[in-house]
Amino acid sequence: MSAGRLRNRVALITGAGSGIGLESSILFAQEGANVLLVDVNLEAAERTAKIVNQKHPNVRALAVKADVGIEAEIQAAVDTAKKEFGRLDIMFNNAGIMHPADDNALNTEEKIWDLTMRINLKGVWWGCKYAILAMRENPNDETRGLHTGGSIINTASFVASVGAATPQLAYTASKGAVLAMTRELAMIHAREGIRLNTVSPGPLKTPLLMDFLNTAEKRDRRLVHLPMGRFGEAVEIAKAALFLASDESSYMTGTDLKVDGGLTSAYVTPI
Ligand code: NAD
Repeated sequence: MSAGRLRNRVALITGAGSGIGLESSILFAQEGANVLLVDVNLEAAERTAKIVNQKHPNVRALAVKADVGIEAEIQAAVDTAKKEFGRLDIMFNNAGIMHPADDNALNTEEKIWDLTMRINLKGVWWGCKYAILAMRENPNDETRGLHTGGSIINTASFVASVGAATPQLAYTASKGAVLAMTRELAMIHAREGIRLNTVSPGPLKTPLLMDFLNTAEKRDRRLVHLPMGRFGEAVEIAKAALFLASDESSYMTGTDLKVDGGLTSAYVTPI
């Protein structure tokens, strides 16, 4: 038996091979959860599993390949969590893409729009759908003194709340929809003890953004808008996701937790 804020819980994390997913996998396991690590890049998910199993041998990490944008694959991943670990308590729908050809209303091709929506939005919908079905099977745990079905965390973004004149229209629209969808699902399932919240990261030093901001000029164009004057770290988002996953956030549902260095509260930033 392990100690920690997620003791005896089972968590499925998508996009576990890199960035926020990687850091969350380590942190959730550190806090006692068995973790199913899902990524379209199996090698990356296996790397994460190796790190987690080495660091935290008291819990189990298992990597599986799934594209969250394909319903049958996300369903199979949830089934694997149930088969291998017996249940599902935490679903972190975190995988997402930011396509380099995603642009403004005039230049974004339909195929880029559709691809972005399939992964960033439909993928989160399907992740919620199969997590809700699995969480409904969880018996109520009287020892926690709570009506506990499970916790679903969906990764949105600061761009769901503020506009950018450096557009990525499909990405922004997909994240706005994640916010609205999560809020509504939170209302529908509130009395089942299934909590749904979003975490909205600010710009982070992960491959997703840094591959895109590949010049000092592009990075500076963003940094001027960041009150704290720096990009965030993936682990700073993982800590927020851990809070939403744990019973410490037991009275929170339908909330968007912004972890953005002050960005979405900013008008004039310090120089
Ligand atoms: P990342 O690129 O470092 O990691 C994303 C992981 O998701 C990769 O391992 C990738 O293989 C996986 N993935 C991509 N498509 C997938 C699919 N179809 N099915 C399964 N796995 C898939 O990115 P990150 O920065 O850790 O981003 C994680 C989430 O945070 C994304 O939803 C992203 O939109 C969001 N976000 C990131 C930032 C940022 O600045 N990095 C800001 C706001 C929101």
